[in-house]
Amino acid sequence: MIKIEIDPAAGFCFGVDEVIKTAEKRLRSGEALYGLGDMVHNAAEMKRLQSLGLKTIDHQQLIDLPPGKVLFRAHGEPPETYIIAEQNGVEVIDGTCPIVARLQRKLKKAYDAMDHSKEQLVIFGKPDHPETIGLLGQVDGDALVLSSVEDVSAIDPEKRVWLFSQTTMDPERFKEVEKALKDYLRKHSGEIKYAHFRSDCTICGQMKKRKPGLSRFARKYDVMLFVSGKNSSNGKMLYEYCKSLNPVTYWISDKEEVEKQWFEECRSIGISGATSTSRAQLESVLEHVKKLTSS
Ligand code: SF4
Repeated sequence: MIKIEIDPAAGFCFGVDEVIKTAEKRLRSGEALYGLGDMVHNAAEMKRLQSLGLKTIDHQQLIDLPPGKVLFRAHGEPPETYIIAEQNGVEVIDGTCPIVARLQRKLKKAYDAMDHSKEQLVIFGKPDHPETIGLLGQVDGDALVLSSVEDVSAIDPEKRVWLFSQTTMDPERFKEVEKALKDYLRKHSGEIKYAHFRSDCTICGQMKKRKPGLSRFARKYDVMLFVSGKNSSNGKMLYEYCKSLNPVTYWISDKEEVEKQWFEECRSIGISGATSTSRAQLESVLEHVKKLTSS
């Protein structure tokens, strides 16, 4: 009999869990609710919420929306989104994760205290990720977003750097960018600017724990199934990490994508997922795999 187990550390992160629970509770009580953007980068979960009545709108639609209730997702929003909602008489249900909200405040405080003629704010993140867009909104867009070490030459070497991170980035990549920035400053402007380099690794603790947890889990199985939306940056990063630990890893976004032939001569299957993948989804994959492998 094949052993099939779910990664005990997998499931929604705290911020996503809270926003999904808020949406579910309100929808089940019969409230009409709009969601601004996908609540989670997970098509199956979004389909489930939409079947409960959630209507997803984009930022353009928010401008013309008649008064109603709109849920903001865990990634957070820039200040102008709140202004647009208020001008429209729209009630905001704010699902911003408290960790993201704290980072938004921190960034604004740092920016307001800076001498902009001598200092620059740098964010390690994805330029088009909603959280990064929300962070940029706190500082009037006046920060440089770096998504990899290749981007470091975009900084002004004559200004000191204060580095922050989008909460869902890879901690190891953060260290690489941090080092590349220091090296760049040292090379182009000498020890003085380098000495004033400041760095705040604002990656979420839940993200930092996921790789060590996955590392302990993924190596134990003949086959690994990694479950997440293909548009989840966290999902892509963790899948790639999982595959580096266990080469027989398959990335699926839905149980229907599982193929029976993956399990020939297999004695154990591990199932894990991103911070945007629910425990319920992982359990439904497990049940599906059980049926497939016993038939
Ligand atoms: S990854 Fe962390 S900061 Fe981001 S939504 Fe989840 S709990 Fe909040």
